[in-house]
Amino acid sequence: MDSKKGIAILGSTGSIGTQALEVIAAYPDKFDLQVLTAHSNADLLIKQAIEFKPHAVVIGDETQYEKVKQALWEHDVITYCGQEALSQVVEFNEVHTVLTALVGYAGLKPTLAAIRAKKTIALANKETLVVAGELVTREARENGVNIYPVDSEHSAIFQCLVGEFHNKIEKIYLTASGGPFRGYTTEQLKTVTLAQALKHPNWDMGAKITIDSASMMNKGLEVIEAKWLFNLKTDQIDVIVHPQSIVHSLVQFEDGSMKAQMGLPDMKLPIQFALTYPDRYKTNFPRFNFMDYPQLTFEKADRSTFKNLDLAYRAMEMEGTAACILNAANEIAVEAFLKEKISFLDIASINEQTLNHCQCIQKPEYEDFVESDRLARLFAASLIPTMQDLSKN
Ligand code: NAD
Ligand code: MG
Repeated sequence: MDSKKGIAILGSTGSIGTQALEVIAAYPDKFDLQVLTAHSNADLLIKQAIEFKPHAVVIGDETQYEKVKQALWEHDVITYCGQEALSQVVEFNEVHTVLTALVGYAGLKPTLAAIRAKKTIALANKETLVVAGELVTREARENGVNIYPVDSEHSAIFQCLVGEFHNKIEKIYLTASGGPFRGYTTEQLKTVTLAQALKHPNWDMGAKITIDSASMMNKGLEVIEAKWLFNLKTDQIDVIVHPQSIVHSLVQFEDGSMKAQMGLPDMKLPIQFALTYPDRYKTNFPRFNFMDYPQLTFEKADRSTFKNLDLAYRAMEMEGTAACILNAANEIAVEAFLKEKISFLDIASINEQTLNHCQCIQKPEYEDFVESDRLARLFAASLIPTMQDLSKN
């Protein structure tokens, strides 16, 4: 009997994807890699496929399809291309768990397809829960599907809850490193550069989440992600800045007891736990040494300077498609910032204007999210030339 767990990794060429492959490579008798996908990095996808011999790969960018197919046919790896294929490969019988390590709104459709095919979800792609948390968690419940968090803070909360699922949560604290601009004033933020924003003090991550961390939007997205994963109300979720990134998050129970999960900042641990829960496998990851961290410090999050965090709380309270609208605006704004078309502070400004302008649809279904995402992207993009003009004055 084959007792190996069949894994599909959506976004295998990214930061989470490549670290997940390291985890999988360490336990060849436990995991059976079935599917790898990438958006445009054909060379790395080919290299990964030759090494791990999955059943199939998907390359998002159709112009690269022939290259990938030619490279992999003699290795017996089936090649697909395009966004639609992502939703098909997650349905393969041999796939048990789908690791959603792709970035942004593009994760929503294949995650829903995986849930409907009753696959376990190891969720890194937080945007899926931000955009359509009610729909995704409802479908997961109806299909008896578990969603295990990969995000370090949510993994921490989940690890604190093991053995406590029947006990009520009073509140949770998500820790935030504060990013490269912790302690900056609005005046100082006016002149920060792309290169500065891309230098995260504690974590080496993909470009989009690195910018989100600098702007605190990442913590905003994580607050919304936590709401859906742990079925919490807005006032049960707090953010605390913890620059050392050792305490990954905390749960406070109704008796006042608090549990924290700690460790060195290394995404391989939460990735592995999401793939092996309820078991823990022995690792050689570096261990925490107290003498390296004689002080762990905590401070209040500055929600008036880092407006994105407030916007996320606001979107959460608006319900409906508000968080979908905010996420879409942010994806456009971050893309523009990465191309140096706008300034750092423009990100939050585009997000705020889009959230104010776009119509929030209540009790949305899938099509409403698609439409809200589309309109919010259009509106956010329309703000960008204006911003450029303003910034010239
Ligand atoms: P990344 O940019 O390094 O990698 C993204 C992956 O997704 C790549 O394989 C890319 O080919 C693929 N991809 C990009 N756009 C796509 C599209 N439109 N369609 C299909 N595939 C696409 O990103 P990352 O840092 O690995 O982050 C992935 C997800 O995990 C994000 O949602 C992020 O918020 C979350 N996350 C990342 C970290 C981290 O340490 N990197 C930590 C917590 C959560
Ligand atoms: Mg996180």
